[in-house]
Order: sequence, then structure tokens, then C-alpha cells
Amino acid sequence: MTAYDLAVLGGGPGGYATALRAAGHGLRVAIIEGDKVGGTCLHRGCVPSKALLHVAHLADSLPLLVDLGLARYGRGLDPAAAGGFRDGVVDQLHRGLEHLLGTKGIDTVRGWGTVVAPGEVAVDGTGPIRARHVVVATGSVAVDLPSSTHDGHVVMWSDDALRLERVPPSAVVVGGGAIGVEMASLWRSLGSEVTILEASERLLPLEDPDSSRALTDGFARRGIDVRTSTGTAEVRRSEDGAVVETTEGDLLHAAVVLVAVGRRPATATTGLAELGVLDERGHVVTDLLGRTSIEGLWAVGDVRPTLALAHAAFAEGFVVADAIVGGDPEPVDYDLVPRVTYCDPEVASVGLTEPRAREVHGEGLTITSTTFAENARALIEGATGMVKLLTASDGTVVGAHVVGPSATELIGELGLATSWEALASEVGAVVHAHPSLAEAVRETAFAAAGTPFHSR
Ligand code: FAD
Repeated sequence: MTAYDLAVLGGGPGGYATALRAAGHGLRVAIIEGDKVGGTCLHRGCVPSKALLHVAHLADSLPLLVDLGLARYGRGLDPAAAGGFRDGVVDQLHRGLEHLLGTKGIDTVRGWGTVVAPGEVAVDGTGPIRARHVVVATGSVAVDLPSSTHDGHVVMWSDDALRLERVPPSAVVVGGGAIGVEMASLWRSLGSEVTILEASERLLPLEDPDSSRALTDGFARRGIDVRTSTGTAEVRRSEDGAVVETTEGDLLHAAVVLVAVGRRPATATTGLAELGVLDERGHVVTDLLGRTSIEGLWAVGDVRPTLALAHAAFAEGFVVADAIVGGDPEPVDYDLVPRVTYCDPEVASVGLTEPRAREVHGEGLTITSTTFAENARALIEGATGMVKLLTASDGTVVGAHVVGPSATELIGELGLATSWEALASEVGAVVHAHPSLAEAVRETAFAAAGTPFHSR
């Protein structure tokens, strides 16, 4: 039996970040992976979805190219070519990650693992692995509706939708969270008639209400039928697709139905239930550093009831690896983890939402919003959007919300501002390139500091 300092169960972002950081600290590390290193993010999530959304974005640019005379011969989308593009991106990153793990001296053990005792992982097809520390990073899987008839072709989850080699003429997306709105946006760009059903009163219910509103307006302009406060009573197959019965009693017919109502932790076969470290929903119970109640057993990523994002998993992995070697890491501050959704328009935020900021900062809170209307770059690109900053009574930026083109890039600077507790006046004082979308951030910061420039 090989003995390691650290065995990581699951090679997704949480697992491989922990492994790389621990190897950097000089630990002998093994990753046990039943499928492919890179996990959901690389193979079934962040990367393939963004590759296809890039194709969708190019498809959206075609009308302008035609108007400008740059695309005289319109060509229909070739789904196989789009799939080839997606696979090329994923394969290149996958090969790069395998190479990186190898060069860092990390052993990748192929097989499905189960923690059978503290410090011992049984692996299908190979002998058990012993390690002083075990980090569970087995991620999450899609939740199904009680009434759905998932078959992967007509009634599907995001894994299936991202592998689909055709553009469905019509789609009903059940669930208006990040995964649902990204797929709705993607299919709409490629020409599908799309309806989204969201049981709560707004899309992206975890985002700021103004961001949800701006997204709903943007989707309406693009012809996406958004139905909020609408549950799904039943999904059933029909001759030419599926029928969704809403809680309002409407019957929606579509070629495909995407069920995107959330994800649950993939802990059922990890042995952790037997070890008594799971909560009632199957999440691993840990302290802020990722430590379970069992000495040497830790968890990172989607198996914890924290933010289910790849970069949150990276951050948790770093903390766990640092704690294992006796460091004194700061726990992840989840308010400062950017939330990003790559639909059109993009939605991104960091820090507090307005309702939460009102609870924390009360009367001292100032809310400042500007639109992209006066932004030259946005006008050139035909884009609309908004930036909203929340500032405390001393002018510190405590929340930032962006909807529009490149919102997921613009949020980087606002992450820095909130992490460094910058004043709005300090963000405004930074000279931004002209013309750039980032000037919308500066413009809002100027306005929040009481010194508006272009905005009123
Ligand atoms: P995972 O990435 O799920 O990896 C877990 C790994 O463990 C898998 O490789 C699995 O095969 C392996 N495993 C499971 N059980 C065992 C076992 N018993 N033995 C051995 N191996 C095992 N996040 C973002 O930040 N940005 C995005 O744009 C984004 N887009 C997304 C789009 C979609 C469609 C989806 C589904 C998710 C998206 N996410 C995004 C979320 C992101 O993918 C997850 O938060 C992230 O992958 C979680 O990382 P993880 O390491 O916890 O788990």
C-alpha cells in the first residue's frame, strides 16, 4: 500500500487546487479520480458552456456583419463544427492539467474511491490508498424534478445539453438560476424559441434585484419568454418532444426541456455518511477551514454548502492545503467571491446585494447606479448595461453589481475594490482607458463619491 501525506478524492477544481497547493508545500500527494481530472468545471460545466456561449456570441454578431457588408454569404451554424470547437478547448485544457499535475509530482490514481476509515481510501480496481490527510472534493450532480422523465435527449440536464450536437427549434428551460439562464441565452442566440420557468419571483434569485430586472429586460428584448413565479407541475414526453405543465396550468410544447433546478453534493458513495460527517442534504459538514469532525478528513468545493463556483472551490482548496501544513490561512470570505453568469447580457457581482447591505449598513447605505448609455465603447458595440455600487456611510464600496457586456471581466476590478475596502472616490481616482467599458465603473464610482462626470 502506497502511503501519502495527502489523498484527494476527486480531481475537479477543488481537488486539483488542493493538490497543486499541497505539492507546492512539499507534500506527497495523490488525486483519486473516477472520470477525468478537471471535473464538472472543465468537462461538463464552466469551460464547454463558455466555449459554446462564445460561438453564440459570434452568431449574434452576424446581423451586424451583414449590415456592414462583411458577411455577404450568410452561413447556417454547423453544430458539429461548434461541438468540435468546444471539444478542442476542453481537450487542450485537460491535457495541460494532466501535464501540470505530473510535473508537480502528483500521482493521479484512476478509479472511484470510498473513504473506508480515517486516512484510508478504497479505490475500484487498485489497492487502498493510505494518507495522513484525506480531502473530499467529489463535487455535485444535477437535481431532478420529481415529475421529470430525464432521458438525456429530449428531457435533459446541463451535462446532456452541453453535448447536444443540434440546435433545438424550441426549448423550455426549467429553472432560472445561472445554469438555466446561460443555456437559455445560448440556445436563443443559435435560433431556438426559448421559454424559462422560474418558481421564485425573479431570474438569478441570489443576485441583486436590479440585476435580475436588467437581465429580464435584456432577455425580453432578445425574445426569450421569461415566466417567473411559475413552477413546473409535470414534464412528459410527447411525439415530437416534450410537454411541460406549469403550476399555472399552461401546457408548453418544446423540442427539448432542460431541467436546471439546482445541484446536490456527490457524496452518496464516498463513505462519508457512514463516517457521520454529512448533513441532511448530503453536504459535508466542516468548519470555516474545511476540517470535518474527524482528524485528518477535510472537504472542499461543491460538497460543502458554500458557493458552488469553480473559483470558490479553488480558494477553499488553497485554505485547506495551507491549514494541513500548519499554516494560519484566512477562511474564504464568500461575500468577496465574485458571482458570474455568462448569459447575454452578462451578470456579475461581488460584495453585498442591496437587501443584505440594507440589513448590515441601514441608513448609512448609499446606492448609485449608472447605465452604459453615456459609455462610448458600449455605443460602438451596440451594448446596454448598468453598474450599481453600494457604499457605506464612510464611502467604502461594500457591493458591486454589473449587467452588460464583459460584466464578468469588469467585476475583477470591483473585487479588488471591495476586498481592499476602497472608497468610491479612490476607484474614481484611478484613470481608466478611453473608450472602454471599464469607464462605466469609474463613472459610477465618481457618481457615488458625489462628483459625477458624464452621468447626471
Ligand atoms: P467537480 O468539478 O464536480 O469535480 C468533482 C470530481 O470528482 C469529478 O471529476 C468526479 O468525477 C470526481 N469524483 C466524484 N466522486 C468520486 C469518487 N467517489 N471517486 C473518485 N472521483 C470522484 N462555476 C464557475 O465558477 N464558473 C462557471 O462559469 C460555471 N459554469 C458552470 C456551468 C455548468 C453547466 C455547471 C454544471 C457548473 C458550472 N459551474 C461554474 C460550477 C462549477 O463547475 C463547480 O462549482 C465546480 O466544478 C466544483 O468543483 P469541485 O471540485 O467541487 O467538483
